[in-house]
Amino acid sequence: MTQKFDVVVIGAGPGGYVAAIKAAQLGLSTACIEKYTDKEGKLALGGTCLNVGCIPSKALLDSSWKYKEAKEGFAIHGINHAGVTMDVAAMVGRKANIVKGLTSGVATLFKANGVTSLQGHGKLLAGKKVELTKPDGTVEIIEAENVILASGSRPIDIPPAPVDQNVIVDSTGALEFQSVPKRLGVIGAGVIGLELGSVWSRLGSEVVVLEALEKFLPAADDAVSKEAYKTLTKQGLNIKLGARVTGSKVNGDEVVVNYTDANGEQNITFDKLIVAVGRRPVTTELLAADSGVTIDERGFVFVDDQCATSVPGVFAIGDVVRGMMLAHKASEEGIMVVERIKGHKAQINYDLIPSVIYTHPEIAWVGKTEQTLKAEGVEVNVGTFPFAASGRAMAANDTGGFVKVIADAKTDRVLGVHVIGPSAAELVQQGAIGMEFGTSAEDLGMMVFSHPTLSEALHEAALAVNGGAIHIANRKKR
Ligand code: FAD
Ligand code: AMP
Repeated sequence: MTQKFDVVVIGAGPGGYVAAIKAAQLGLSTACIEKYTDKEGKLALGGTCLNVGCIPSKALLDSSWKYKEAKEGFAIHGINHAGVTMDVAAMVGRKANIVKGLTSGVATLFKANGVTSLQGHGKLLAGKKVELTKPDGTVEIIEAENVILASGSRPIDIPPAPVDQNVIVDSTGALEFQSVPKRLGVIGAGVIGLELGSVWSRLGSEVVVLEALEKFLPAADDAVSKEAYKTLTKQGLNIKLGARVTGSKVNGDEVVVNYTDANGEQNITFDKLIVAVGRRPVTTELLAADSGVTIDERGFVFVDDQCATSVPGVFAIGDVVRGMMLAHKASEEGIMVVERIKGHKAQINYDLIPSVIYTHPEIAWVGKTEQTLKAEGVEVNVGTFPFAASGRAMAANDTGGFVKVIADAKTDRVLGVHVIGPSAAELVQQGAIGMEFGTSAEDLGMMVFSHPTLSEALHEAALAVNGGAIHIANRKKR
């Protein structure tokens, strides 16, 4: 008998699994198809994010930071303990356990909410039918009232540096090193390159990051990207801007990488090379030729601003569609689509999706940068507060960076919050909440913030917008 569901989701990443749970919660009969298996060959839900993305990378970032702190950051607190060592296999094993816990947690949530979990490859056919190819090769056709495509993305390969997952790895391989490479190359100074480069640099690798662009972190506010470059370079990341990789040759256990920069052709030898030049949408065998769903010129499933594809009742969300490749964007699109299937009003404020880079200090922002606003001809007032003036940051010996609040000069409405510093991701979220409700800098300045907190830096930066900061000299006078 043909199985029939109100909603069939293809892909169980943070887009797909969240959509499936929400659909079941709203009373829709729901199935979620996923094909990814872990090293033991077991179905693993959670997609890139839980298996090889957000969570495992943060696990290694946290472990490596603790190691670096123990080695270099404890003495100032009066804690003297010599001979700190790192057991890389134990660190990677801890990460694997976290992944296991979370991916099996998604399976539990599916059960608890009544989502039917189907293992195999899903392909959309015409007429909202889905072909499920199971691991044993048998094929089943499933009927759906609505289909949500959530097949995600995978790392981009570049011909000059073909990934072998041994000497030349992608982000997935870089989460699995069993020892610390002495000389580590990273191609791409984007979020993933900087995070993974930081992990191994903290553990002792000499890290060189080769970035084709002349500008560092072009999406960030200029003040933040300048500070980030300075700090990360000081920490030991050798970031070469304007360095385009043109070729590589693996010789046994090492790789010689060719690149061009302002001085011409260069080469450099590494023990491991991470290729982190971005991600591309996964649409392989996802759509039958007559499915009716179209792909845009960049390979993304074409959708409108509410994630509807060109076929009524078929939606696409997350990394497989336009926009930022972020787990929280994928999840919110999943919720929006399901609410709309149910006939409820729902939309996402794409202007307020926060971005975070989990280096140390963290880098995070929401809203527009000062340079974008100026280019748009918007007059702004800016307030900045350095963590060096924060009592809480001093107590923690973590005083690098600042909070920058940008407000419309005419209305005082906050248009951007940019943070580099301790807990930047959490602070920016406070800005995002305020901005969603149309906060002005004055509103933020009038709120009571607990003392001593890092959040006070946001408070002071908001006060500084109109020349009212208390704990630093104001650049702007009232
Ligand atoms: P995915 O998570 O890619 O999931 C898609 C799923 O669909 C996969 O499990 C895949 O196996 C399955 N699938 C594909 N095709 C089919 C098919 N035909 N049939 C059945 N199953 C199929 N984002 C953040 O927000 N914060 C971070 O800190 C962060 N860190 C990251 C670190 C790294 C190293 C990487 C690689 C990514 C990181 N990301 C981060 C990005 C984040 O992982 C993605 O944006 C997010 O996972 C996208 O979710 P998704 O559901 O669209 O797709
Ligand atoms: P992101 O897309 O944010 O993950 O960043 C990927 C980065 O890789 C971008 O900043 C690209 O400029 C960079 N990049 C892409 N191809 C190359 C290359 N051949 N050599 C060096 N950097 C590259």
